[in-house]
Amino acid sequence: MENITASELAGLGVGTLLFCATIAAPKIDALISASQRSTLGMCRNCGDLKMIACSKCKGAGMIKEGSFMSFNPIEGTFQSLGARQAKVGFVSCAKCQAKGHMSCPNCST
Ligand SMILES: [Zn+2]
Ligand SMILES: [Zn+2]
Repeated sequence: MENITASELAGLGVGTLLFCATIAAPKIDALISASQRSTLGMCRNCGDLKMIACSKCKGAGMIKEGSFMSFNPIEGTFQSLGARQAKVGFVSCAKCQAKGHMSCPNCST
C-alpha cells in the first residue's frame, strides 16, 4: 500500500515538474537571455544594437492605411491592376520616420 502510494506520488511529481518546465520554458529562456545580456554589459532592451524595432510598424517603416477596413473595393481594384498601384494604401510610419526602428531609450544619450 505504501509502495503504491509512493510511486503514485513520484509519478505525479515528475508529471508536475514536466508540466511546469513546459509552461515556464519560454519565460526561463527570456530570463536567461536578459541576464546574459546584462552580464555581458549589453543593453537589456536592444542587445547593444542601440536601436529597437518600431512597435507601430513592426520594423517595416510603412503602415497600411486604413487596414482596419477589410472591405475596400477601390483599393482592391488598384491592387488587381498590378504593381504600379501596389503602394496605394501605405503610408510612412510617423513614429519612426519610416525607418522601421528607433533609437533605444536605454541607450540614447
Ligand atoms: Zn539599448
Ligand atoms: Zn514605425
